[in-house]
Amino acid sequence: MAAIEMKNIVKQYGDGFPAVNDVSIDVEDGEFLILVGPSGCGKSTLLRMIVGLEDITDGDMVIGGKKVNDLAPRERNLSMVFQNYALYPHLTVYENIAFPLRLAGKSDSEVDEKVREASKTLELDEHLERKPGNLSGGQRQRVAMGRAIVRDAEAFLFDEPLSNLDAKLRGQMRTEISRLQKRLGITTVYVTHDQTEAMTLGDRVAVLKRGVLQQHATPRELYENP
Ligand code: ADP
Ligand code: ADP
Repeated sequence: MAAIEMKNIVKQYGDGFPAVNDVSIDVEDGEFLILVGPSGCGKSTLLRMIVGLEDITDGDMVIGGKKVNDLAPRERNLSMVFQNYALYPHLTVYENIAFPLRLAGKSDSEVDEKVREASKTLELDEHLERKPGNLSGGQRQRVAMGRAIVRDAEAFLFDEPLSNLDAKLRGQMRTEISRLQKRLGITTVYVTHDQTEAMTLGDRVAVLKRGVLQQHATPRELYENP
């Protein structure tokens, strides 16, 4: 069973041509899917419909076998992974990772167990008492992923997470995200307009143009048959 099934998804704003036009994509369990295409092709709109931040005009969104069209973001158990700005600067790494568990009212011992497990996986266990301002970009990204992991989210969603970084850091982060995604085996949907990211990060790439799915294939297939 696919982790995320998009069936004939349409998004119409007003009466122009649809921002997303009859898109069907299955994201397999543990797969890293890239959504790529030029600015305005509908990738953010599609991602926001997956997360539940945008209403679906037509079609079905199925997550974990359940139709979620009318479910609020919090009922979908997905995790949008934001870059730096979603971390709380005044909280330690530990408390940043613990945040969703505190919100959910978990006991101190359960919080502690989950935070320690996640921080070990993410190699943050030596930085738990630091504040985000004193961390490298890569470490901050890992804290953001830590917050997603402790919630046992069904999937990670990224919206151009590297677009504001310089080329060197972008390269490092690409490697880091790819490595962690493989280690965690968590289903991931990643939006970018960057061809290099699209061709190096994903298991499969979905190419959008003016809201229409043009290609859906592995990077190798796209390379051999552009
Ligand atoms: P991308 O993420 O690929 O840059 P978007 O999904 O942001 O593309 O936008 C796709 C199309 O939908 C664009 O033409 C954009 O102007 C339009 N659009 C996006 N959001 C809205 C909105 N809230 N209201 C009206 N049109 C929108
Ligand atoms: P991105 O391409 O990164 O999604 P945009 O600058 O296109 O960013 O959009 C920023 C915000 O403006 C989004 O919330 C989007 O929904 C909204 N938006 C984009 N295009 C339009 C539009 N034509 N009319 C109204 N809102 C829009």
